[in-house]
Amino acid sequence: MNELPENKSHIRIIGAGLAGCEAAWQAARCGVSVSLYEMKPKKRTPAHHQDGYAELVCSNSLRSNEIYNAVGLLKEELRMLDSIVMEAAYQSRVPAGSALAVDRDRFSAYITEKIKSHPLITVYEGEEISSLCGDEITVVATGPLTSPALSKEIAGLIGDKSLYFYDAAAPIVDAESINYDTAFFASRYGKGEATDYLNCPFTKEEYDAFYQALITAETAEMHEFEKDLTVFEGCMPVEVMAKRGYQTLLFGPMKPVGLPLPSTEKEAYAIVQLRRENNQGSMYNLVGFQTHLTFPEQRRVFRMIPGLENAEFHRYGVMHRNTYINSPGVLSSDYSLISAPHIFFAGQMTGVEGYVESASSGLVAGINAARRAKGEEPYIFTSETMIGALANHVGFGNSANFQPMNANFGIVAPLEKRVKGGKKARNDAYAVRAISHISYIKDRLFSSAE
Ligand SMILES: Cc1cc2nc3c(=O)[nH]c(=O)nc-3n(C[C@H](O)[C@H](O)[C@H](O)COP(=O)(O)OP(=O)(O)OC[C@H]3O[C@@H](n4cnc5c(N)ncnc54)[C@H](O)[C@@H]3O)c2cc1C
Repeated sequence: MNELPENKSHIRIIGAGLAGCEAAWQAARCGVSVSLYEMKPKKRTPAHHQDGYAELVCSNSLRSNEIYNAVGLLKEELRMLDSIVMEAAYQSRVPAGSALAVDRDRFSAYITEKIKSHPLITVYEGEEISSLCGDEITVVATGPLTSPALSKEIAGLIGDKSLYFYDAAAPIVDAESINYDTAFFASRYGKGEATDYLNCPFTKEEYDAFYQALITAETAEMHEFEKDLTVFEGCMPVEVMAKRGYQTLLFGPMKPVGLPLPSTEKEAYAIVQLRRENNQGSMYNLVGFQTHLTFPEQRRVFRMIPGLENAEFHRYGVMHRNTYINSPGVLSSDYSLISAPHIFFAGQMTGVEGYVESASSGLVAGINAARRAKGEEPYIFTSETMIGALANHVGFGNSANFQPMNANFGIVAPLEKRVKGGKKARNDAYAVRAISHISYIKDRLFSSAE
């Protein structure tokens, strides 16, 4: 354990995972001292097995490293802001083509050493925190498998209905990749706004082919501790529902009633409804299509849906244990709790999804917890950056259907001008704009501390 230096500005961080370590690092860069509490090695979640910090619990890949790819851009923004997670990733990189993959032991060892040896950070290992009482500025970064005692405390703080324990999300597609010659706008029985729903109609032959593909597609492996997830009827995977019988989907998520085709005014044999995911209408989710198929199988099978032949997926459907907050209206875009702004949340539990995204929220929460400790105004990243777009999703996403989100271009602020040259040119323009914004703010953000 380090000696804590004399410093009035102090914060507490709970959880030395990806978000907690990034938050500690950034807060310390802002000149604030940090007490970091981690329950390992005394107690572990079902997915954590190592003693080091920032343990990668599954894949060793931090996904694409190309900046015209959304998560690649996020990585570049974090790197520019001297993220410890990015520094460790580059130090422990292993060859993986255009992806950034790491040697997980070296990755964790690098971060552990940097955190433990930082003069402003004091670590308390084997300490499970279960209370958020008091007025200490605190960042809760305990991850998707937060210990039960602390989960109970959080539920008490924000209300039972705002804390979820599993993630059963349907895929989300890019609005521009939908074929509007086939898909048509309408809400069932004409109720509500017609533009809220797009409908993909099937003939019987199309349904038969889709049905066969769905019931024979490959599913992702479940972790032992997640196997009881399937007991929740409300989040039954679409492929499991399909296996109950040929008719089940036709009376469930694919029922065509109340949605006549604009061309014939007759009902199709089956319909998949897409619901608008954000205000801009840049993303749509497949209603009732929570799934446990592997990502390549989702791409193959769901592209058989008429109108989605060329669909680009902003996120694939997932089903896994995941403690997360229904954040819009509960958290601000600086990741602080609206009802108790001295408490910040960071990581997967805020409604971001993925290793890099968790680090990103740790960066924002760490900087803002430090600013609060120093009596400074919060710093809100704009949605022109991927870091800010994720924070904006957390603060202002759709609370009626809030789902954890990967980095993707559907959540960033639209470009001021239309860019010709297709998706790659458009993504390049997003990246140029974001990087110039981060270059501009970088020195100003940390100038008071360094
Ligand atoms: C099984 C599983 C597999 C995943 N696979 C991937 C993947 O392959 N790729 C990907 O990008 N994302 C994956 N994720 C999603 C997510 O990116 C990771 O969970 C990521 O580690 C989240 O970072 P975090 O900092 O929010 O939480 P974590 O990295 O889990 O860190 C939380 C830390 O808090 C500690 N802790 C918990 N409760 C307490 C407490 N009460 N007191 C003190 N300490 C506590 C834990 O021991 C842990 O060290 C996966 C998630 C799960 C659950």
